[in-house]
Amino acid sequence: MQWMQELARVVRPGQMTTSPSVLEQHAKDESYHPGVLPDVVVYPESQDDVVAVMRLASAFRVPVVAFGVGSGLEGHVVPVRHGISLDTSRLNRVLEIRPGDFLACVQPGVTRTELNQELGRHGLFFPVDPGANASLGGMAATGASGTTTVRYGAMREHVRALTVVLADGVVIHTGSLAAKSSSGYDLTHLFVGSEGTLGIFTELWLKVWGIPEATLAARAEFETVEQAVAASTAIIGAGVAVVRLELVDAPFFQYINAYAGTTFPLHPTLLLEFRGSRMGAAADLAAARELVMEEGCTVFDQVQDSGRQTEMWAARHSAAFAFMAAHPGRGHLATDVCVPVSQLPQAVSAAKFALAEMGMEGAILGHVGDGNFHVSLAVDPSDREDMARAEAFSGRLIDQALAVGGTCTGEHGVGLGKRRYQAREHGTSLAVMHRLKALLDPEDILNPGKLVDPDPAPGGG
Ligand SMILES: Cc1cc2nc3c(=O)[nH]c(=O)nc-3n(C[C@H](O)[C@H](O)[C@H](O)COP(=O)(O)OP(=O)(O)OC[C@H]3O[C@@H](n4cnc5c(N)ncnc54)[C@H](O)[C@@H]3O)c2cc1C
Repeated sequence: MQWMQELARVVRPGQMTTSPSVLEQHAKDESYHPGVLPDVVVYPESQDDVVAVMRLASAFRVPVVAFGVGSGLEGHVVPVRHGISLDTSRLNRVLEIRPGDFLACVQPGVTRTELNQELGRHGLFFPVDPGANASLGGMAATGASGTTTVRYGAMREHVRALTVVLADGVVIHTGSLAAKSSSGYDLTHLFVGSEGTLGIFTELWLKVWGIPEATLAARAEFETVEQAVAASTAIIGAGVAVVRLELVDAPFFQYINAYAGTTFPLHPTLLLEFRGSRMGAAADLAAARELVMEEGCTVFDQVQDSGRQTEMWAARHSAAFAFMAAHPGRGHLATDVCVPVSQLPQAVSAAKFALAEMGMEGAILGHVGDGNFHVSLAVDPSDREDMARAEAFSGRLIDQALAVGGTCTGEHGVGLGKRRYQAREHGTSLAVMHRLKALLDPEDILNPGKLVDPDPAPGGG
């Protein structure tokens, strides 16, 4: 391939590889979507490298798929049309921290825990926490969120400005460092959530926060998932300043206990966290306790000890891995609907009903403070019947979510798996998205086959 020879001229030998094991690592993510090998993996070490790669890719019409750490759950990084997997792991410098402005500037390959290590020295932290130790470029590209979003917001609320290399190698800067701006079209938020289909981020300015004085945590057990969800809605409705409000159902605790050697009681449970001044956090915890008791909480356990707090949140974050460990050889399909909070109790009930009616096994957890929950299913991607059933289940949840004004994906993104729902969710605005894609990437080389590209095989990935 001529483009491959040209590529060898624009990057150093140590920056590209066709080693089968490395190609394999870049063929897929953590989802059930089957992998496809890229032709080559390239490791840019500077923005100039990214520009050179994009110029070449544009000239030869070679697909380029940005790769963070590959923790996505919808097949985003699968290079369905082969080409270049652009691994950002060497773009891994925290470029600047401005404590007085509560801002940090990072290269895209910095992971969220790496950023937090640096920020800790300044008494600061970055709250967006998708569980996996994802790259900040990948998190911005998927519009990620996580356990603390109910208090601090998602990636969309944290990306202040971006440097982006466009499909033809042109570099643009979007946004500003000001806390607000009414100037021009909001290109920053066009790129956030664009899943590598509109440009490659090379620098991100992120909003960061001061570490609060006190952090308190609690577990609230219930007899039913419905009671737990109703309690979470009561907490939000009462305006209690909760920082984390997570639902974990009994099957998930079974998987977690087996995986992590913990002994969490097997009941639907809300995991809660409160931060602020000592008095403020204690008052919030007391208010939440009162509300959950009114909704049928059977055990309210204030998790005082910081070791136990760490164990509790580690358990929550290990849930997906625990689920997969319990289903060796199968793929993980996690539904991701998000609905207006008042609609959450009905949405979760309907999901439980659908599982029972369709005779399926699934475990439920959710960022219930945001109206977002996941049903984890273990699937066999090579079994058409199994996949069709799982997709039918997921489709049913999405239909219900869309009917009440929700979305097919609260945080995982569209990737390959949610393309078929884009027309239904966005209606005529999908045509505007197609035009934006064509404007910014006329040769369709940036992560082709994803997001706005129609799903060619209903029922398939
Ligand atoms: C156990 C587990 C739990 C998870 N929980 C959550 C959760 O609670 N919330 C949540 O939101 N997600 C969750 N995820 C999904 C995943 O962690 C997020 O989607 C994350 O944002 C992906 O980051 P990444 O670095 O792995 O990106 P990748 O998977 O490598 O890439 C994701 C997308 O970003 C694009 N991309 C990467 N870098 C760039 C760049 N520099 N410029 C432009 N595009 C780029 C890629 O092309 C791709 O389209 C979870 C995943 C796992 C495995």
